[in-house]
Amino acid sequence: MQRRTFLTGAALAGPSRAALAAGSKIGYQSLFCYPWDVLDEGPAAFARLVKETGVTHIALASTYHEGKVLAPHNPRRRVYFIEEGAIYLPPNPRYFGNTKMKPRVSRWTSGRDAWKEITEACAAQGVRSTAWTVSLHNSYLGWTYPQYTTMNAFGDRYVHALCPAHPAVVEYLRALAGNIASYSTEAVDFESFEFVGYKHYAFLEKEGIEITPLGNLLLSLCFCEGCLAAAKRLRVDGAKVREAVKRRLEIYFEQGDHDRSPVETRLSSVPGLSDYLQARFRSLEDSFRQVAEAVRAHKKKAIFMVMGDSFPNYTAGIDLGRIARHADAIEFLFYARPPEQAPAVMRNLRKAAGPAVRIYFVLRPGYPDAKDAAGLVKLAQASAQAGASGVSYYNFGLFERSHMDWIRQAAASI
Ligand SMILES: [Zn+2]
Repeated sequence: MQRRTFLTGAALAGPSRAALAAGSKIGYQSLFCYPWDVLDEGPAAFARLVKETGVTHIALASTYHEGKVLAPHNPRRRVYFIEEGAIYLPPNPRYFGNTKMKPRVSRWTSGRDAWKEITEACAAQGVRSTAWTVSLHNSYLGWTYPQYTTMNAFGDRYVHALCPAHPAVVEYLRALAGNIASYSTEAVDFESFEFVGYKHYAFLEKEGIEITPLGNLLLSLCFCEGCLAAAKRLRVDGAKVREAVKRRLEIYFEQGDHDRSPVETRLSSVPGLSDYLQARFRSLEDSFRQVAEAVRAHKKKAIFMVMGDSFPNYTAGIDLGRIARHADAIEFLFYARPPEQAPAVMRNLRKAAGPAVRIYFVLRPGYPDAKDAAGLVKLAQASAQAGASGVSYYNFGLFERSHMDWIRQAAASI
């Protein structure tokens, strides 16, 4: 059927079939996808479409946060509301039997193992899979188990943000990672494995005062029992820092603040803050190490996804060098940037992550980053030339179907 194919005669411009058959020099090229789009398409039909692009992997969401999605080519719907924080595989009691938090299971997996169906259909076409796993941004779990969410200096809980320093959260993520890694997936690709900040756009955010970088950082800090215990292990008095942060925020709320200078230059304005931030870097590293171990127990890989290229990221608690010790790859969202920026971004990432870890770039094959196939080819080539050892395309359900051919051309060009 015409609407189910993208490889039309007109679309065959660009790299030749011979080049495609010769295979790509980049060993990891992945297509992000949502399970509902794949199931609506039909796993077998989807797998054939993916194979035609020449990408090596799909990155299939295993769990995902809330959202409203415009689906321009989905055969069954055009607008889809995502089930908040659900997982897309049947949870195995072997992993979740003793966890304090229990997952919300998506209706897409009711009576079937959608994850298995999709990955097996792709494997039958020679396309491997990774599990795209949203980690700490989970409002379903946050509403259900507020005791494991970020608690700010005033004691308010953030339902969109599970705290990575809390042992119950690490236990849940280890169970989830182990369960996913028990499937025939090659890697678990962790998104939002960080201290999810105050500003997150999960809700209609209502603020009548200016949120400065320092204000955002201070509002993002967690002082839950897990964070205080992690700080104590490094001889940092978290309760004292909490009081200092609270005092600073009260002054900010009373007098306002218009200083938009980077947080690095303002850390000394709060006593004990620098030490507390160092403790958070260590604590995030420790949690990621434990979760990555659950993946490695199945001889699978752990990929760590990042959005910004400036490190350390104080608000998210990410010291990339520490994370890279436990990651098989760092995946960077190369969004809203021209191809010319790829070398500078790669230098920043390399400097922060160290020389050993692989670095992947994620590209958007369409609006607003690529105007045409040539634009995407340029982005892919710039990524490869900058030293990316993997390139991913985001995401099947969101761009126009014809752009699958752009991916074919980009994938064959690197
Ligand atoms: Zn915490």
